[in-house]
Amino acid sequence: MSLTTDLATTVGLEIHVELSTNTKMFCGCPVAFGGEPNTRVCPVCLGHPGTLPVPNEVAVEYATKIALALGCEIAPYSIFHRKNYFYPDMPKNYQISQYDIPIGSRGGLEIESGGKTQIVRITRVHLEEDTGKSLHIGGGGRIDESTHSLEDFNRAGTPLVEIVTEPDLTSPESARIFATELRSILEYLEVSDVRMEQGSMRVDANISVARSGERGVKAEVKNMNSLRSIERALAYEQERQGHLVAKGLTMASSTRHWDENSGQTKPLRTKEEAFDYRYFPEPDLTPIAPSIDWIAGLQDQIPELPSQRRLRLESDLGLSPYDSSVLTSSKAIGDFYEQACKAAQKAEPKQVANLLTNEVVAALTERNEELEDSKLTPEALGELADLAAEGAVSKNQSKEILAEILKAGGSPGQVMQSKGIRQVSDTGTLEAAVDEAIAANPDVAERIKAGEDKPFGFMVGQVMKATKGQGNPKIINDLLKKRLR
Ligand code: ZN
Ligand code: MN
Repeated sequence: MSLTTDLATTVGLEIHVELSTNTKMFCGCPVAFGGEPNTRVCPVCLGHPGTLPVPNEVAVEYATKIALALGCEIAPYSIFHRKNYFYPDMPKNYQISQYDIPIGSRGGLEIESGGKTQIVRITRVHLEEDTGKSLHIGGGGRIDESTHSLEDFNRAGTPLVEIVTEPDLTSPESARIFATELRSILEYLEVSDVRMEQGSMRVDANISVARSGERGVKAEVKNMNSLRSIERALAYEQERQGHLVAKGLTMASSTRHWDENSGQTKPLRTKEEAFDYRYFPEPDLTPIAPSIDWIAGLQDQIPELPSQRRLRLESDLGLSPYDSSVLTSSKAIGDFYEQACKAAQKAEPKQVANLLTNEVVAALTERNEELEDSKLTPEALGELADLAAEGAVSKNQSKEILAEILKAGGSPGQVMQSKGIRQVSDTGTLEAAVDEAIAANPDVAERIKAGEDKPFGFMVGQVMKATKGQGNPKIINDLLKKRLR
């Protein structure tokens, strides 16, 4: 059953991003994913008594860059607060965070969803530190069925930026699009690995469904580990809440856990409501009071962002909005594309784009490989696009060459030589093959003359067979038309 039309969905997102600084937020321990548990720790990030935090300047820079890229106002004066709560993964029993004066506030990010352009307001961008990780032993790793838990503090104290949006999103799809755009911006800024599956970008969502004009009861959805699962989890939640609202049932606000395998959100055991974090100013840290010059310097360092690159690819290279959005979805693919275009001598940017967004993406998906990790180089792609543009290889041959490069590396020229791939475009040879095919299938030739289309394809196939698949299909088509039409 689908939702009745008078229901409205409201979504706000809260995103935590681990910054890719060399060291932690308040100590010199290295920041890295994984590793032997409790090897990247020191008295500061373990919260030993008497230790003092020293802020990481690069983390402050990264957070400010993020705020600037999201169009936020930068606070001329902001401070750290202690957010007090007890949990085993947090050694100090408080998290150093920001409260009433975040580094950035009142920004906005433009997205396009369902053919409409929308500005999603950014409430705040603030700096804080990450917790450690609990590992629950037994019971399949679930806390409520485990026998005991282990703590790994390697992650404790990693710089985190929290980005909070206003509840401006109105569908699961637009939430996914927002998260995709944000991830892309963070990648372009080179401030984070933004790997959702490794937790360096974590998206939580508040979603409520209500009759239009009424106020809904929100559910907070956690544990969405990919962009796709954001949309899936919110679609599930939209449906679930929609049914309850349609039946006139009242809901309590809840925190829910997305379960990727069952495709459902499940309620987390509710703790006491309305946490009192007893926020108070961190007495061991001085305020952050950036000068206007310092902020302007960071503004100058902000590179071309995905939305600007999209516009440039459309206006300068004549790409369609679809192609430009695929090609800017990650910095890596955009850089790869522009290098391939430079390498290509004859192919148009549009032809290089087609090859990359269709053939290459399909082949990579089949191999379950990322472009950056593949054996294909931008130069090889440029060369392949040239060969296709010149008509020196057919579409099928181009696919074959691409598959071989992804498997074993090399350039298109090398692959063609080693695999004996060439395209017969010599008109004399093809004319002979066309004549032979017509002579061998006189009845088919008659039907083509009578205007039937199906036998035409058969005849092309016969000529291709005779040339061992190496005939230039366009020339064969032209020759057959000349003879029979
Ligand atoms: Zn440390
Ligand atoms: Mn937070």
